[in-house]
Amino acid sequence: MNKDCFIAESDFGSFIGAMLGATKVIGPVAKKTKFVFRELSSPGELRLDYDVTILPAKKAFFPQRQELVRFQGNAVESCIDPEDQVLFGVHFYEVKAIDMLDELFRAGHEDRNYLANREHTTIVASSIQNVSGRAFFASVGTDVKPKGHDAFLTKVFGGYVYEVLTDKGARLTAHGAFEPVTPAQLDEAKRVNDAAMTRCEEKLSHGAKEIATRVRAAFRKEELWNELSEDCFSCGTCNVVCPTCYCFDVQDAWNLDQVSGLRCRSWDGCLMEDFAQVSLGMGAKENFREERATRYRHRVMRKMTYLNEKLGGPACVGCGRCSVGCVPDIADPVKIVDKIMSA
Ligand code: SF4
Ligand code: SF4
Repeated sequence: MNKDCFIAESDFGSFIGAMLGATKVIGPVAKKTKFVFRELSSPGELRLDYDVTILPAKKAFFPQRQELVRFQGNAVESCIDPEDQVLFGVHFYEVKAIDMLDELFRAGHEDRNYLANREHTTIVASSIQNVSGRAFFASVGTDVKPKGHDAFLTKVFGGYVYEVLTDKGARLTAHGAFEPVTPAQLDEAKRVNDAAMTRCEEKLSHGAKEIATRVRAAFRKEELWNELSEDCFSCGTCNVVCPTCYCFDVQDAWNLDQVSGLRCRSWDGCLMEDFAQVSLGMGAKENFREERATRYRHRVMRKMTYLNEKLGGPACVGCGRCSVGCVPDIADPVKIVDKIMSA
């Protein structure tokens, strides 16, 4: 299976074009001054020089809104209907986030709505050409390696090194004029990927285990959480842009006949005011995280402590999307952790 290879820059466009002719390909494309993952319609749209995308790549298998089942009286029909697709050009921190989702959606009762899409996806990771100004991926979970990708593409002089990790990754090489890779090109690829790890402007200054312990110990410091969340307006952006957030809300849409309908799920976020609101029946409600400080604390606990203890690594991959997306700029995990550690 290990058939690492090289493709020249001049042949790269036809490789992407041939792949597009054979399957659906999702990759980073420009959207005004930012980037998004979207289905490609032509090779020229692909922007492997992106720094970070607005939304994470998880939407390729866990879309913002997903139909789950159709019902007609007591008859229920699954909406699962996955199609083969290639997710092309994801950075390694994004693969780490997908690895977490794979584990979480497989745990206990398997989530087939996620896993069916995931299993039909071939992931080609790519080297980081530009680093987002708020990213800190180099200092987070350094002992946790990405593993869910099928190939890894690195831009080197004159073209790309394509490292094959699975049979799915190997199959894609049939679409391009790949040639054997040289030891010098493999060395260059390693240097390129190592160099990307030195270019983050932000960094966590403590290890994951210490952070998990100290953040948990700060749980009852109400003044601290009030101060940290003072400017939060509960928009939920920090949840929605996060590649490791996986909470969703389920709703039934009934047809006028009041017999048939559709059950859907959509992304939810623990910072939003009604996230923890439950019905008590007879029109009564209870919200067990009514205060924004408790919702803010919950997000930090999930990222830095609860899931860290469950998964054996931080549930944050350092993409920096939450820092970029938060209007009052109070969601940056580096600043939050620094504040907690010095409190
Ligand atoms: S993005 Fe910022 S303002 Fe919005 S919910 Fe998150 S912390 Fe609060
Ligand atoms: S918490 Fe922020 S930096 Fe960490 S993975 Fe989520 S969006 Fe990225």
